[in-house]
Parts: sequence; structure tokens; C-alpha cells
Amino acid sequence: MADKTYILAIDQGTTSTRAMVFDHSGSVVSVDQVEHEQIFPKAGWVEHNGIEIWENTRKVIGGALSKANLNSKNIAAVGITNQRETAMVWDKNTGEPVYNAIVWQDTRTQKIVDKLAGDAGPDKYKETVGLPLATYFSGPKVMWILENVEGAREKAEAGDLLFGNTDTWVLWNLTGGAENDGVHVTDVTNASRTMLMDLETLSWDESIASDMGIPMSMLPEIKSSSEVYGECKPGVLNGTPVAGILGDQQAATFGQACLEKGTAKNTYGTGNFMLLNTGEEKVPSENGLLTTVCYKIGDQKPVYALEGSIAVTGSLVQWVRDNLKMIKDASEIEELAASVDDNGGAYFVPAFSGLFAPHWRSDARGALVGLTRYVNRGHIARAVLEATAFQTREVLDAMNADSGVPLTELKVDGGMVVNETLMQFQADILGVDVVRPKVAETTALGAAYAAGLAVGYWENDEDITNNWGEDKRWTPNMDDDERERLYRNWKKAVTKTLDWVDDDVDSD
Ligand code: ADP
Repeated sequence: MADKTYILAIDQGTTSTRAMVFDHSGSVVSVDQVEHEQIFPKAGWVEHNGIEIWENTRKVIGGALSKANLNSKNIAAVGITNQRETAMVWDKNTGEPVYNAIVWQDTRTQKIVDKLAGDAGPDKYKETVGLPLATYFSGPKVMWILENVEGAREKAEAGDLLFGNTDTWVLWNLTGGAENDGVHVTDVTNASRTMLMDLETLSWDESIASDMGIPMSMLPEIKSSSEVYGECKPGVLNGTPVAGILGDQQAATFGQACLEKGTAKNTYGTGNFMLLNTGEEKVPSENGLLTTVCYKIGDQKPVYALEGSIAVTGSLVQWVRDNLKMIKDASEIEELAASVDDNGGAYFVPAFSGLFAPHWRSDARGALVGLTRYVNRGHIARAVLEATAFQTREVLDAMNADSGVPLTELKVDGGMVVNETLMQFQADILGVDVVRPKVAETTALGAAYAAGLAVGYWENDEDITNNWGEDKRWTPNMDDDERERLYRNWKKAVTKTLDWVDDDVDSD
């Protein structure tokens, strides 16, 4: 049976939506992908059109099935992974969003967040939810919609509006939507990014929801990451169970087979996200990391993670391409960087959305420092790549300090890990091996695993671990003095970006 059936994963990402079909060995059978519009109504605002996202989801499901010549009978289950924190609010009677999705990178909620923090400061809810108050998370975005979209508050109080991250939006539509009683559910990993879930009980915290003015009737039911939530209806997958949901970074952790306490992965995409599996223990961070749910398989105990989120890494390469026009394609940055031996003294701190982990400074803005007449395009290209590696070092140091057990190697994935210059520098600056797996599509694979485990397509963790294979390993090749000199300079560069944004800048 395993030869004839497959798992379909939907990856609803920040820039695109993809559907991927996987076989029992974890290999990709087919892929379809469509990008969606990035809407920037004002500086700092980032939105997506929810209707476009749902239409693209349907398109890529059809595309991936037809490319592999499959139909719903060949699909044992569907898994969903998604951009986390991005908030959708829609009318359950019509299926119409009341506003665009407010994306995780959006900083419009700064004033809301400051007001919520009040005298208690940004760590007001940290003990309960594992997160500092920041514009990043969903709860304040929902609060913004209820406070700013005409009629939204009344409808919400009447019980007509639903909230979800994009996992919930896709699931609700897949399982029937307004006409066919779609299921309104999320999983523990997505819920742990809202600032509304108690990490211990894995249920909504009514007092935080009340502080944010969010009626409980809007919130989806929280379920595990691996169980049958409902069946697709109608459409090409009619009758197929949807059986796995994991936020994208947790899905990548699962897809990298980081299933044991103490294992970690780092994903290099638009931003960077390092997750360390801390087992059944919920480790509070003293060093600027987030405590989050890593996954929960069916009725097993939840597994937690420490996470270091970095807002800008690959998107700095895009910025150099699109705004400076120094390169035509992201891959050209490597050749340019390789035209020089070192950074020539230049350091680029890409604090475009402030600084996330481990600093959490919304008042920071980007800076290119250490410039002299000597510095050329090659040095700047190197500084761009090195920025990703230095930011990762900051997060790794915080992880080692929080967990008390230094990491001995780092599994990597994401769009930037094809860059060998970056990977070698990363190993050099961390002082530990950096390891890339054979299947690069770890995010979609993780969601497929969660769905497949729920329906018995895969039996257990061992099936997943056996599917993981090493593609390439980079070993540190820099002496300690040089490593520490470069890192010391980086830290000095970071201090130059702080305290830039003044209070009088309007963030409404
Ligand atoms: P996401 O899933 O966050 O959309 P991906 O994992 O697809 O991102 O990675 C895309 C990112 O990787 C882009 O920001 C791009 O600039 C960067 N990137 C792609 N190729 C390279 C390369 N060869 N060197 C450095 N960065 C790259």
C-alpha cells in the first residue's frame, strides 16, 4: 500500500504557497508553487490577501497532483505548514476576510504593544506564553484589526468573526468553509505564537485575551500537531483527511529529524530561525530567546523548544539585489563576496525591522559601519553574508547559555544554504560543524511526517530518523583569536544601530 499512496503537504509561506507530494522514503514526488502579492501600504506595514492565498492553495494542490498524475485516492493524508504569527480575521457566515492578513514582519502594532506592556514591561506575559511582548506575534495584530476595521468589534462580539494564522484559514476552507461547516482548529505550535496560549496547559489564557479585547469565540480550538482534524470537502481532495499542522519552523525541525532533546536546526530563508529541542521540559529563556512548543504528536506529551528568531538574513541579499541593484540574482552574491579575502573592516547590521533575538530592540535600524576608502563592492557583499553568520552566532551563544549544554553541531536548511562561502564562514564563526541534509525541503517534509504519523503511513520516530541523510558538512577552519576578533567587532557594530527610532515617529 505504501507504494501506491503518498502524503501531500501544503506549505503556506511568506512569499509563496506550495504543495508537495512525498513518498514513503521522504522523497519529493512533485511540487507546485505560486507566489502571492506582498502588500506594503505604509512603511513598516506588510499584508497578504487571504482570498489570493486560498485560491493559490487550491491551484497548487491541483498542480502537484496532476504533475504526478495522482488523484485523491492516492493521497493518504494532507499536512499543513505555514508562515506563523500572520493573522487572519474573517466572517464565518460568508467566508470573507474583514481585512488583509497582517504579516509577521509588520510593525504597526508597536503602540498597542507598548500600551499592553505598561509598567510591567515587555516580559509581562512571558512566564505564561514564553514570549516577550513584540509586534511579531498574532494577538496584538488581531487587537489592531478589532480596533481599526469598521464594524469588526461589533461582529466579533456577536460571535460572527473567526481568527486564525494561515494554517487555520487554509484548514477551514479545505474542510468546507462557510458553506460546508469548515473546522476551526489550530495546532499547539501555531497557538504558541499568538501570545494567547498558556504553554503549560496548552489552552487559551482568558485573561490575556481579555487584556487584548479578543472574544474567546474568535479563537480556534487547539489540537495536537498530528491527528485527523477533518476531511477535505468538496474539491479535488474530497474525503482525504487533514492530519498534521506545524508552524513552518517547527515543521523544519521535525523534517530535520531533530526529535531528541539537545538537537537543533537553523533555517536560512527570508529570516533565520534556530530551534533547539528541549524535550518535555519548557525552558524559560534568560538570554532573549523564545520558549515555544516544538510539536505534540497525538495524545503524547508536548515537546518544547527554545527559538532564536532573526528577522533579516536572506532578505538582506534581496535588498542588495532589488534596492541597490548590486547583483541581478541572489546567487551572484557569492561570487562577489569571493572576489575579496575578507570584509575589509566593513560590518552590515540589517536591523530593518528593529532587532529580534536575542536583542528584541524595536528602536534599532540598519547600519553599515567600519567604512574606509579601501572598502569595495566585494567587501560589502562579504559583510552582507557575514551578517547572517554573526547573527546566528549571537543566537547560538544565547542557546548554549540557556540550555547549559553547548551544541556540538548545527543542522542547516533553507534557501541560503546553497551558499558554500556562507556555510564555511558560519562553521568558522561558530566553531562547530555545520551539516546540510540530502532532502532540502525540510519544512514541507515535516508537515508531511506529522500527517503521515497520524494515519499510520509512517509508524514512529525511527521511520523519520532513518529517512534523514547527510549531504555535506563544513568544519571550522579559523583560529580562535581571529574568530573572537571578528565577533567582537560585530558586537560593536550592533551597538551603533540601537536607539535610532525616536518616540515621535508615528507607528499608527
Ligand atoms: P523563504 O522560505 O523564507 O521564503 P527560502 O528558504 O526560499 O525563503 O530562501 C530564500 C532566501 O534565500 C532569499 O531571501 C534569498 O535572498 C536567499 N538566497 C537564495 N539563494 C542565495 C544564495 N546563493 N546566497 C545567499 N542567499 C541566497
